[in-house]
Order: sequence, then structure tokens, then C-alpha cells
Amino acid sequence: EAKKLGGNRVVYYSSKEFPKIEEIITKKKELLEAIKKDEFILFYQPKIDLKEKKIVGCEALIRWKKGDKLVPPYEFIPLLEETGLMNEVGLIVLEKACRQLKEWHKKGIEIEIAINISPAQFRSGEFLQSFLKDLEGYTELLYYLGVEVTETALVENVSVATLFLKSLSELGIRVYIDDFGTGYSSILHLKQLPVSALKIDVEFVKDMDVNERDYEIVKGVINLAHSLGLKTVAEGVEKEIHEKMLMELSCDYAQGYYYSPPLPPEEFEEFFRKFNGLK
Ligand code: C2E
Ligand code: MG
Ligand code: MG
Ligand code: MG
Repeated sequence: EAKKLGGNRVVYYSSKEFPKIEEIITKKKELLEAIKKDEFILFYQPKIDLKEKKIVGCEALIRWKKGDKLVPPYEFIPLLEETGLMNEVGLIVLEKACRQLKEWHKKGIEIEIAINISPAQFRSGEFLQSFLKDLEGYTELLYYLGVEVTETALVENVSVATLFLKSLSELGIRVYIDDFGTGYSSILHLKQLPVSALKIDVEFVKDMDVNERDYEIVKGVINLAHSLGLKTVAEGVEKEIHEKMLMELSCDYAQGYYYSPPLPPEEFEEFFRKFNGLK
């Protein structure tokens, strides 16, 4: 048996480099097909204003509708990046979010939509330029658009980040620092960048009722943000007690399964109307 395998070994190892490339080509084909068939769609998760107890915005979260399966972003965003298709999909996300804003505003749902930009997208000057260019088509709505970027993406290239974020804020777009506390950051940068709010990562919030360290981190981030004149959004609010604690800490906004998971547009509309007492 071992000999048999041994006999194939040369062929196996010598072709080892190829499967990787072939794999990427196959994946790229599949992803291009998915783009063509419009299978990348956006779900929306509400952001609640904790003082008003009203939905004031939402986060757009991408899904791949593959047959009757919904593939979560961590399973395909790395593939999009590997195959060089992330920029294309990033612009599709922007376009879909802007169209949704338009539709909702017509229906009287006047809320903000925030989209995510990954560090890899942020590294691509070409992407950032195309992004700004595409925004020109939606000028009257930009005050309702938000952008979420991680602190790591920002500090990788502070001068580009500063220019890009300044362009966004001049257009009226709000900038959120995503997953705050999990990456590398500097208060100095935060002070210099036109940022509206810090989003406290799920990992700190979802156990803040049982883990004192997490509670202290959440409290510290809220106080830091407020002292810099920034708002705070807590992600991963899963229980009533989280909401209560966050309100005591004067956190501004909350997002999490306690209110709602990310929803397709029609379900979001229904949830919005009910939650905001419009139905
Ligand atoms: P993120 O931007 O930090 O998004 C928050 C994630 O937490 C979402 O996962 C959301 O579904 C999840 N979440 C919401 N509420 C709760 C909760 O109460 N408990 C817990 N445990 N989790 C909660 P999702 O949708 O799987 O997205 C994962 C990540 O994928 C996002 O993290 C974001 O970094 C990335 N992503 C999503 N959509 C896009 C996109 O359009 N473009 C880019 N570049 N990245 C995206
Ligand atoms: Mg986000
Ligand atoms: Mg986050
Ligand atoms: Mg995250």
C-alpha cells in the first residue's frame, strides 16, 4: 500500500503548486457568476437610539444567496479578496445601499444606512477613487449614508485615510470606527480624523453582564469617545440587561440580536414600522 502511494508521490508533489492556482481560477469563475446573477445581497440590522428608543439607522451586511443557502461574509469575503473581486463587490454594496436609501426615503423611512469597508478595500487607492466617483450619482442622499471602517485600516495609511475620510465628511457622510478595541489604534489619530462614532465590538458587549473586565472596557470606551466628542454604538446587544447597563453608561446607540438580527429589506421595513410605533 505504502509503495503504491510512493509511486504516485512524485506526480502528487510536482503538481502541488497547480491546484492552488486552479482552485483560485475555479473560485473566481464561481464568484464572477454570482456577481452576474446578482447573488450578493444586503441584509439590514437596526441601530437603536437608546434615549429615544427609536430606530435611527441600520447597518448593511452582505450575504451570498447561493441557491436556498445564505452564505455569511466570513466565508466569501476572503475569497473575493483573494480573487481580486472585492472592489467590484464593494461598489455593488455601495450602489445597493444607495438605492435602498432612495426607496426607503420615498416610503417615509428616513434612516441612515451604514456600509462596511474592509481593510483590503481601504488599501486600494483605485477602490477609494471609484467609491468617491460613484457617490456623485447620489448627492441628495449622502447625508444619510454612513461608512464603517476598522481602526487597523485607518492606521495602516494615515495620510490616505485622512484624505478619504475628509472627502466623505465633506459630503455629509458619517464615519464609524468598527470593532473598536480589537485592533491597533491611537487616540491621536482619532482626534485628527473626521470620525462620528466608535462601534464597540460584539466581543466586549455580549458578556458585559457577567464579565467585569468586559464591562470596564465598554465603560472606558464610552467615556473615551464622549471626551473626544464622539458618539458610541454598542454591537452585540443580546439581552435586556445589556440595554439597561448601556443606558446607565450613557451609550448613544445599540445594535444586536436583542432587538433584531440583520433582516432582508421587506422584513426590515415591517420591523421598523412596528418598533418606531408607525403601525
Ligand atoms: P461587523 O461590521 O462588525 O458586523 C457585525 C457582525 O455582528 C455582523 O456579522 C452581525 O450579524 C453580527 N451581530 C449583530 N448582532 C449581534 C449580536 O447580538 N451578537 C453577536 N454575537 N453577533 C451579532 P456578519 O453579518 O456575519 O458580518 C461579519 C463581518 O463581515 C462584519 O463585521 C464586517 O466586517 C464584514 N462585512 C459584512 N458586510 C460587509 C460588506 O458589505 N463589505 C465588507 N467589506 N465587509 C462586510
Ligand atoms: Mg460593521
Ligand atoms: Mg463590528
Ligand atoms: Mg466585526
